[in-house]
Amino acid sequence: MERNYLSKAIVLKRQDYRENDSLVVFYTQNQGKLSLVARGTKKPKSKLVGHIEPLNLVDLMIIKGKGQDYVGSVISKEAYLNLKENLSNLHWAFLGANWLLRFSEEGGEEVDLFNLFANYLKALDKMPTDSKQAEGEILFSIFALRMMAIIGYQPQTKSCLQCRQKLEPKSHYFDLLSGGMLCPTCYFAKVAKNQEQYLKISEEGIKFLRFIFDNNLFLGKKIKINKKIAREINVLASSFLAYRL
Ligand SMILES: [Zn+2]
Repeated sequence: MERNYLSKAIVLKRQDYRENDSLVVFYTQNQGKLSLVARGTKKPKSKLVGHIEPLNLVDLMIIKGKGQDYVGSVISKEAYLNLKENLSNLHWAFLGANWLLRFSEEGGEEVDLFNLFANYLKALDKMPTDSKQAEGEILFSIFALRMMAIIGYQPQTKSCLQCRQKLEPKSHYFDLLSGGMLCPTCYFAKVAKNQEQYLKISEEGIKFLRFIFDNNLFLGKKIKINKKIAREINVLASSFLAYRL
């Protein structure tokens, strides 16, 4: 028997499927990532096709069939047109969508991830169209690190992974493999091998990392941070994602 479910969802990806259909990957509010067949989307008169543009926030009816699950109906509620007009923001939005695709499991219920991604798109959409590359970069770093925290990889930023001492206010070393900081003493004691596994992080960078995990930065205020720190945290976030795959 077929069963129907309603959910809010964000379109992560769409590809052609069979002769007339599309295969659409949604991140749903209730059921995590779902791949559904949308029927007839390649026919000229398809009503569905405009609603399943990647990055759209939609109201979705999911039909669970015997074999494949498919889209019953879908209505786009928010297309984030402002975001889509800015190439740099579009790049950061798709990068976020791609990492979410890779890190989430099919049917893994994770409402926090849905909210995080929806807030990330909303924040990118609210940025002025002439905003600089660096502002989207900061938002991406925050999205990436908070996504990692939600799926269980929140890094330790307050004490040293090795000696457990509280970190003094100065530069320390981020261990990409273990997900946390090493104080300089412990770092220099073990650094002989796998040096690329560690990133030196400035005192200001560590403060910003803690701030990311302690606050919901997407709602409300503009984030002021200098370019060097933004770059440093972006390199850390991107490398941390790559190490965890
Ligand atoms: Zn230590």
